[in-house]
Amino acid sequence: YRCRLESPTSIGRSGVSQIYHLHVVEGEGFNILHELFPHLKDKLLNEYNISSYSLKNEAEFVTNGNLLNQNLTEDIEWIGIGRFTLEIFLRKELLIQLIVDQSANIVQGVKYRLKQNTGSPLLDIYGNFIVDCTGRNTPSTKWLKESFNLTIPTVQIHFGSGYVTFIGERFKTGDPSLDSKPIICSNGNIPVNNIGCYITPIRTIKTNGENSLETLSTITVTCVNSEYPPNDSYENLLEWTKEHLDSELNSILKLTKVWSPLIPYRRAINDRKYVELLGKSWPQNYILLGDVVYAFNPQYGQGITYAARHAKELSKIFNENCHKLEDFSYIFNQRASAISKECWLISTANDWKTPTLKLIKTDKNGKIQTYERGNGSGTTKHPKVRMPLMIKFLQWYNYWFFRCASKSGQLSTDFFACCQSILQSIYIDETNHVLTSLLYGTKSLLLFI
Ligand SMILES: Cc1cc2nc3c(=O)[nH]c(=O)nc-3n(C[C@H](O)[C@H](O)[C@H](O)COP(=O)(O)OP(=O)(O)OC[C@H]3O[C@@H](n4cnc5c(N)ncnc54)[C@H](O)[C@@H]3O)c2cc1C
Repeated sequence: YRCRLESPTSIGRSGVSQIYHLHVVEGEGFNILHELFPHLKDKLLNEYNISSYSLKNEAEFVTNGNLLNQNLTEDIEWIGIGRFTLEIFLRKELLIQLIVDQSANIVQGVKYRLKQNTGSPLLDIYGNFIVDCTGRNTPSTKWLKESFNLTIPTVQIHFGSGYVTFIGERFKTGDPSLDSKPIICSNGNIPVNNIGCYITPIRTIKTNGENSLETLSTITVTCVNSEYPPNDSYENLLEWTKEHLDSELNSILKLTKVWSPLIPYRRAINDRKYVELLGKSWPQNYILLGDVVYAFNPQYGQGITYAARHAKELSKIFNENCHKLEDFSYIFNQRASAISKECWLISTANDWKTPTLKLIKTDKNGKIQTYERGNGSGTTKHPKVRMPLMIKFLQWYNYWFFRCASKSGQLSTDFFACCQSILQSIYIDETNHVLTSLLYGTKSLLLFI
């Protein structure tokens, strides 16, 4: 970890500095991966020396100040894996062959292995259908403007998100209730507490060190409201966490041996492109998928699942076999926007509480309007942010949902077991009205509005 963490491009992917940071894949995202690659989990566990953990007995999971995993009625599996192992696994197992229809003598596609190929002349590659999935720094916005004079309406919410992530070896604190928990997640509670901390194991190790828990973990300290944790030295980070995190987390961090650089990330915003609003003026045979179209607050761990749901929806459109290729992008934009709306509400509701919130809207004529909450001193040069009624309602709802879930084993189990139901169960029509119900955790709590 020491030598390979030097540069984000050290294993060939540029523009994705988030790969150093802790990622959690939601249940639904994992299910989609499992459908596509049924052997994924078994191979990881059996051939790559990966461990699985019990969310019930080996974790402490706190959301908005509520401990959620204390009364689970059934256990939920948590698989911890390091990013290098995952990258090696993906390249070795997945990206290596042609996809062919042998009987028709047709090459349908390529399962490819990424190769460094810098310095070669530009190559025109034609395709019947182009998917831009190049992540949050996509040039598509610029290209659409240049080639079609199209401006995609966008909303960006800046809430001062920051991460510092490192790999650490945990040592015994002397408190068995902490030492028996390899997984610790605490997401802060905006605006009372704007700091969170996540610890998840990625590999077991053998050491001669006394008191080592013999586990390497990815450890992340997060913030909103621009209250950034320092990353110049571990001593300074510890000084800082003393003020901002509870004593249990501090006693763990104090006894952690750092195995990697402290990697910062400060560019995360909620960024949504309303591609669906461009209707039929959107060009044919071309779509945006994943972070390109919508990047989220990473703390809610939705991005990977969102991209997987987009991909699944696209595959559904292809498999329906009743649409003309030239209609695909229009159909996809409409359907994908329903997924975006769900994720947007879940992801942004709490961010709206950030004291120094900033909102930037661009309409389809390219007019940009900035709104700002201000930093407490009262004056800003921009109009004040006005919180939508739906967001106010969701904040109220989240507050009571998590309080109830911390008391109810059934509700918290449903929450963890079907995180996806949170996303899937807000049904919204084209005009943004909630049509049917808002439902967190399928069985336990149903609220009609
Ligand atoms: C700090 C942080 C923490 C996060 N934590 C979580 C989490 O816990 N759970 C979660 O679900 N999500 C999390 N996310 C979000 C998650 O990282 C993204 O949603 C996800 O990576 C999006 O996948 P993507 O394929 O759309 O884009 P990316 O993962 O960004 O992939 C884009 C790919 O395109 C390649 N590329 C770019 N330009 C070109 C080009 N011109 N030619 C060829 N290739 C190109 C890049 O190298 C990259 O491999 C986090 C994000 C951040 C910033």
